[in-house]
Amino acid sequence: MTIAAAAPTAPDLVQIYQDLHAHPELSFQETRTASVAAQWLRANGFETTEGVGRTGVVGILRNGDGPTALLRADMDALPVLEDTGLAYASVVRGTDLDGNDVPLMHACGHDVHVTCLLGACRELAADRGSWAGTLMVVFQPAEEVGAGAQAMIDDGLFDRFGRPDVVLGQHVAPLPAGFIGIRPGPSFAAADGIRITLFGRGGHGSRPEATVDPVVMAAATVLRLQTVVSRELAGTDVAVVTVGALRAGTKENIIPDSAELLVSTRSYDEKVRSRMVAAIERIVRAEAAAAGATREPTVELMYGFPAVVNDIAGSAKATELFTGLLGPGRVVDPGLITGSEDVGVLAAASGAPCVFWLLGGGDPAPFAGAGTVEQMAAILNDVPSNHSPHFAPVIEPTLTIGIGALAAAARAWLPAPA
Ligand code: ZN
Ligand code: ZN
Repeated sequence: MTIAAAAPTAPDLVQIYQDLHAHPELSFQETRTASVAAQWLRANGFETTEGVGRTGVVGILRNGDGPTALLRADMDALPVLEDTGLAYASVVRGTDLDGNDVPLMHACGHDVHVTCLLGACRELAADRGSWAGTLMVVFQPAEEVGAGAQAMIDDGLFDRFGRPDVVLGQHVAPLPAGFIGIRPGPSFAAADGIRITLFGRGGHGSRPEATVDPVVMAAATVLRLQTVVSRELAGTDVAVVTVGALRAGTKENIIPDSAELLVSTRSYDEKVRSRMVAAIERIVRAEAAAAGATREPTVELMYGFPAVVNDIAGSAKATELFTGLLGPGRVVDPGLITGSEDVGVLAAASGAPCVFWLLGGGDPAPFAGAGTVEQMAAILNDVPSNHSPHFAPVIEPTLTIGIGALAAAARAWLPAPA
């Protein structure tokens, strides 16, 4: 049955979606969202555990012999002032880790992920004849800071609840609603956030001979870091090193004591990633030594997302499945995505193959007449995307397809005995 023939999303789920959208919560503060998920899981017969990895929720539904499929939804929102004009827009504020009062918005659409997984859970619990095995559903905190998946693993996710045979999930995207994007192999980029502090010796700007100038040290480091991608990686490797912040000093005639650089990297291959991070550290230490610094610089990894690498066979299986669901021409390869996602951590730590797709949530109107992926890609540059204050997935058919895709994937990986 194609989605077009399926019933639209039940009103209670639409209500939950709008309620979640109006009540966003920051990373590791998703207590309200977690309790909505936990109540729903209990009502549908799942063994439910809250507080896994601080605010995560795990639901287990056993349905006879068979493999285990992990279905994952992330729950956290962003410090963004919503400007969608939606009737259910967020006006909520929160407190970030640094104690700042910030506006909150589900600007990445994790409310869509939670709602779709709840819908799939109800559908699968009510239709146990259509699958066999174990459903392991994971409502994950803190995706936006790249820490939630690891927090759940560190809290014994796979030791306490078992190891999955596949990790399945989706991310809503500005692709037009009615489309799904999936790419075999490397899909989302690995990303590392690095904080570098260079230490010099401060003093009067008129007496450089009595100082070690961290501003010059930082400037030389920024330039030398440009050679990591251009001179140390192969032409066939894809990587980015960006110095997004350079902070030092207060006044023109004071040489400061230290300088700080914030560096962001992207890559799609673990070997490229580790070589790049090692090169950054080597250059930082060498530039400090070259400047005569008497104190070693510090190089701190603020966060690290591995690349999301989709299983090749699993992606082919999902593509066929979703084409059956949406009709021909509606499952597209979105190309390499430079955004990052920590769902890959769940797959890597459990050893299970990962199948993670993009769920179209964009208003289809601007895409009218775009017949090819290239034409669609050009329009995608002009419509609000994830993390924008204007990002507003359309409720239908996004929810219906998101629920249908998760449920269909679960059935495909947990087939009922013939
Ligand atoms: Zn995001
Ligand atoms: Zn996201």
